[in-house]
Amino acid sequence: MVTFVPLDKTKRKGLIMVNTGDGKGKTTAAMGMAYRAAGNKMKVFVLQFIKGKWKTGEKKIADQLVPNLEIVPMGDGFTWDTKNPEQDKATAMKTWLAGKEKLMSGDYDMMVFDEINYALSYNFLPEEEIIDTFKNKPEKLHIVCTGRNAPQALIDIADLVTEMKCIKHPYKEQGIPAQKGIEF
Ligand code: ATP
Ligand code: MG
Repeated sequence: MVTFVPLDKTKRKGLIMVNTGDGKGKTTAAMGMAYRAAGNKMKVFVLQFIKGKWKTGEKKIADQLVPNLEIVPMGDGFTWDTKNPEQDKATAMKTWLAGKEKLMSGDYDMMVFDEINYALSYNFLPEEEIIDTFKNKPEKLHIVCTGRNAPQALIDIADLVTEMKCIKHPYKEQGIPAQKGIEF
């Protein structure tokens, strides 16, 4: 049986959170949390392990209006259908190391590693190093990891894991392309 120990509500405990599964909503839920934190004057860093074809709505508005919410997409050479895995691996690694530095700096209240699960499941990143870094994160830092196929080792160290389950998706059943304001 699980017993819940009442916590001192003034004490902040940094959580490790994972949004995974094959349904839509992993990144948007993480972004919702990022904006929620930013609205509470927390400092938030969102690192995206995919290079978007377009500048997303969430980045446009953050860049214009939310100085304490930084959204940084990964550098070039990394897309969903990868043709040059070695280059992708190098770019993913460079992105991770930049994120690791931000993480260790202690400057942030929340960090989102968007699509890191994807990069991990393709073995573009050293799983052990990432798990180790997360385990030794600054105590108050909240971490959110998104992407399909979250590795078991990440699930094991997480405090909160949610699986988005696809019941229906406009592209899957009807071939409807990505819609502005919904997908980007
Ligand atoms: P979002 O960014 O909208 O929250 P997500 O992060 O959950 O989506 P990803 O796995 O990152 O989804 O996929 C990126 C794109 O793939 C999104 O445009 C999303 O709508 C689409 N997608 C998500 N789930 C499915 C699905 N089951 N079938 C087809 N496309 C999907
Ligand atoms: Mg996503």
